[in-house]
Amino acid sequence: MHQTCTQIAEEMTLIGEDDEPPSQHGLNIPSLIVPNLLPFRYNSLIQNSRVQTVRHKTQSTTKTKIFRQTYYPEINDKEWNDWHWQISHRIRTFDRLNQILKLSYNEYHALVNSGVQLPLSITPYYTSLLSVDDPDQALRRSVVPTINEFVKMPCESDDPLGEEHQSPVPGLVHRYPDRVLFLLLDFCSTYCRYCTRSRVVGHGAINAGKDRLNKAIEYIRQTPSIRDVLLSGGDPLTLSDEKLEWVLFRLRQIPHVEIIRIGTKVTTVLPQRITPKLVRMLKKYHPLWMSLHFTHPDECTPETHRACSMLADAGIPLGSQTVLLKGMNDSVETMTELMHELMKMRVRPYYMYQCDPISGSSHFRTSVQKGLEIIKGMRGFTTGYAVPTYVVDAPGGGGKIPLMPDYVEAHTHEKLILNNYENKCFSYPDPLISGEKAVLQ
Ligand code: SF4
Repeated sequence: MHQTCTQIAEEMTLIGEDDEPPSQHGLNIPSLIVPNLLPFRYNSLIQNSRVQTVRHKTQSTTKTKIFRQTYYPEINDKEWNDWHWQISHRIRTFDRLNQILKLSYNEYHALVNSGVQLPLSITPYYTSLLSVDDPDQALRRSVVPTINEFVKMPCESDDPLGEEHQSPVPGLVHRYPDRVLFLLLDFCSTYCRYCTRSRVVGHGAINAGKDRLNKAIEYIRQTPSIRDVLLSGGDPLTLSDEKLEWVLFRLRQIPHVEIIRIGTKVTTVLPQRITPKLVRMLKKYHPLWMSLHFTHPDECTPETHRACSMLADAGIPLGSQTVLLKGMNDSVETMTELMHELMKMRVRPYYMYQCDPISGSSHFRTSVQKGLEIIKGMRGFTTGYAVPTYVVDAPGGGGKIPLMPDYVEAHTHEKLILNNYENKCFSYPDPLISGEKAVLQ
């Protein structure tokens, strides 16, 4: 008897939280293939289901399961849930992507001309979330290059944040007095087309060799003002547990390093990376925080939910970072939905970034006014925790500058006139002290 797509989906579970991937307990994929399942049709057959509850045994979305049946029918759960397998089977060529997606003119010519700065790389898991026939789908736009990347505007540059000028040793950026950005490597399992560091990621210039890492650690050791180290890249969680622990252990030997943060996108593009073994190792280096990169609510799958739950259960405070992207998440509805999904996964919405003016990014950038409108449309209308801080990372190395809609109508000699989220006017007693000027609007 043939099984339906839903039956197959229900039988294929992810590993349980006590299992060590690759798991011995994973169920084998049923051998039956969905009849009449054509690659370009599967996407329209199914709906992407969002996370409803946290469960010990979490299922993949139907979309992911059908994708696996279509393109990796011989791969069992044990392999699929092994992050090494996901990395070694990344989609990296035009030919492979062309087998899976119906490429648009803009995508096709970007890939065959291969003149894009950032390499193509998408994990099979994240590829399973892409729309087959809609090049405008947010997730697809975030990882599939288009010829728009060849267009460089006068305001753009390869290093808009001026990181190269604030780097005392290779791969270490010391912009703020009390904290450093420590780039461990330049590799990511999946490359975001809007990446601020597209000048370096994927090019092999920043390696995870111990000589280079030791130089950076030594700089931190010799600089007592540094109390906070942010590990980034590339994606630090694409390092082996052993290499990552090698770094964490050495940083923890430095008395003035109070907190360590890790910036990563694996929970979104490679959630299989969050294993019980990794989490047990990370727990040894508290206080350890994580900033997780999300773009769109469709990324909040059961796999991602499970990964975030494991990290949160290990006592790691989780914050999110989201780049505001034109036509992808630049509406109050989409951004609010994303933040709600994040909160359900115990990820605190942290930053919403104005897209940096990196070379070839004009098709991703919104106006700043759009960002302010989104914050205004969220503040007061949803949980305060769900509203991220909107920031512009100042070109030239000025750091993050927060932007807020203006709620102050006027400041008289006696009171502040304020607009609330519903645009209703209120006053607060706030007499000016001598020398201060009234702002009357
Ligand atoms: S995960 Fe981060 S570093 Fe890697 S490509 Fe995306 S934005 Fe760049």
